[in-house]
Amino acid sequence: MSTRLVIDHRLRHPEKAHRPDNPIQRKPAWIRVKAPTHPVYHETRALMRANGLVTVCEEAACPNIGECWSQRHATMMIMGDTCTRACAFCNVATGQPGPLAADEPARVADAVAKLGLAHVVITSVDRDDLPDGGADHFAATIRAIRAAAPATIEVLTPDFLRKQGAVERVVDARPDVYNHNLETVPRLYPTIRPGARYFASLHLLHQAKQLDPSIFTKSGLMVGLGESRIEVMQVMDDLRAADVDFLTIGQYLQPTVKHAAVDRFVTPEEFADYAALARGKGFLLVSATPLTRSSYHADADFAALRAAREAR
Ligand code: SF4
Repeated sequence: MSTRLVIDHRLRHPEKAHRPDNPIQRKPAWIRVKAPTHPVYHETRALMRANGLVTVCEEAACPNIGECWSQRHATMMIMGDTCTRACAFCNVATGQPGPLAADEPARVADAVAKLGLAHVVITSVDRDDLPDGGADHFAATIRAIRAAAPATIEVLTPDFLRKQGAVERVVDARPDVYNHNLETVPRLYPTIRPGARYFASLHLLHQAKQLDPSIFTKSGLMVGLGESRIEVMQVMDDLRAADVDFLTIGQYLQPTVKHAAVDRFVTPEEFADYAALARGKGFLLVSATPLTRSSYHADADFAALRAAREAR
């Protein structure tokens, strides 16, 4: 490993610096992606920099960035670049974040308008330090985008540390899609997502749907962390019981040697099996491929969600 990478993960993930190294496995052929070279990729990058915006595409080292940004599909991450949690799978930097930028909703809205997006996904770091977990900032961002651009809006929120009234504030701002990722099966929460509670996340999704049944709800899982097929099937049942419309499943990729190790690379055939199982359980839409991420192809998926609801 290069010195630069060692320094990088020590700075970004100080709480992980003393953990033993987990060697990074070579990726199978079905995970390989092309380097970003498209001119539109560079335009998207320049606009993010010009508007002072942070993206999860970069912070999470998403493998799809070349494809997505070449189509101007950037997922903006609000409330800074520093997360108050320290999940074992996540590459977003951890630490004590700075104060919220009051002009960020306007900068995000301006970027959405300039990108000409039909559908935008907005996510955030966890802000457990804020009294409302950042719910008002999400709501302000949704309203700013509504005022500036015709895009449909998808939010991918944290669990707001179960803070009273937070989900209500976001739903009140009327996003089109409310996404909150379960990430993994409940057995693995203590090691993979230790700051979160599985049933609190399920409850949040159910609550969003109950508050406004017209909102599409969505959740995602990473596989390849050591979960079993039966456990994934149980999560699907739990999500359906919470009336979740859309399930995404993708392969976990290890960002650095200090993050959780990949248990195994799930084959494309197994992803197809998960997709068939989930469809059979009644989700309106399922995306399950090795490179599926919460916001991957979210614009086309939103159109498919609407069509599926109308057809049903
Ligand atoms: S899949 Fe999502 S996070 Fe990854 S590059 Fe595309 S928009 Fe960004």
